[in-house]
Amino acid sequence: MLSLFDMDQKALEEHLALVGEKPYRAKQIIAWAYRKFASSWDEMTDLPERLRKHLVETVSVSRLELLRKQEEEGEWAKRFLWGQGGKPLCESVLLAYKYGLTGCVSTQAGCPVGCAFCASAVIGFERDLQKGEIIEQFVGMCRLQKERLGHLVFMGTGEPFMNYDNTMAAMDVLCDPAYYGLSRRKVTVSTVGIPPMMRRYAQDSRGARLALSLHATNNETRDQIIPFNNRYPIEKVVLALREFAASSGQRVTVEYMLLKDFNDSAADAARLSALLGGIDCLVNLIPWNEVPGFKWRSPQPSKVKEFQEVLERNRVKVTVRRRLGANIEAACGQLRRETADRPPK
Ligand code: SAH
Repeated sequence: MLSLFDMDQKALEEHLALVGEKPYRAKQIIAWAYRKFASSWDEMTDLPERLRKHLVETVSVSRLELLRKQEEEGEWAKRFLWGQGGKPLCESVLLAYKYGLTGCVSTQAGCPVGCAFCASAVIGFERDLQKGEIIEQFVGMCRLQKERLGHLVFMGTGEPFMNYDNTMAAMDVLCDPAYYGLSRRKVTVSTVGIPPMMRRYAQDSRGARLALSLHATNNETRDQIIPFNNRYPIEKVVLALREFAASSGQRVTVEYMLLKDFNDSAADAARLSALLGGIDCLVNLIPWNEVPGFKWRSPQPSKVKEFQEVLERNRVKVTVRRRLGANIEAACGQLRRETADRPPK
């Protein structure tokens, strides 16, 4: 069985030619999939019935099943757990911000990096997601929401730069006006910090944005929570970020997750300001989302405020992430982890 979201227009045209169909049918199918968010061949009513019957037998429109959905009222976030054959695969989150709806997608099933504070580390790594599986998370949220999402972040489970080709291929399709037509300025890839890949992305992103999960201000601290820091120490990671900001002419995002009594002091904030000096960046402070069974704690709100004020005094642009999704276990990988422990109802 082929998969629709893994096929580009040319592959579709070739498949249609096998049964003597005209190439323009491929464009019709793409419009149904990417702009009308059809989830089955039956919905594509302007395709002849005979063709639909052939497609039902040869190409699957949907490869992700929705296993669970959690919604948070008030502050608005929805979390989706996708699976295959009833088995959990990956998670996506839909976030409502002032500027519109953002879809956050996973790039891997599980994560090979193993950061000490992250729920995904507990499950470990299963496999890279395919191009179509990444695309379908985003389009699948449009389907369920019955509207277009204006922003895309590769900030779900997994390290996008360890599944680089599929992540970039998914981005290219979603940004192509012939398919979904998202503006590249509204797409962000978040990385744990792999300098050679950050450089490659600088060449390939063509206007898409970069976020770096920094979470510490020196190697001693970062080594304790991010295993990759051994290979790619903080000064190299920050240099690659600096180069990306300079070469792209874009403001980059620095994610700084606050862990109580570990990296949340005023001295950390001062060091962070110095480290980022001269980089056009926005620091996003993220109070750690509790993961049951982990030794870490979330920072006190007064500490978050103090940290923010030190950055502001040093003229570093900073926002504090709303605790969107905290009530629905929106910390990375938690829904999948929980469902792996307890099979879905
Ligand atoms: N691998 C990529 C993208 C996935 S993680 C990266 O490292 O950026 C997305 C973000 O969520 C990262 O900044 C990650 O460090 C953060 N994160 C993971 N677990 C978290 C938790 N329990 N609370 C808050 N942020 C968390």
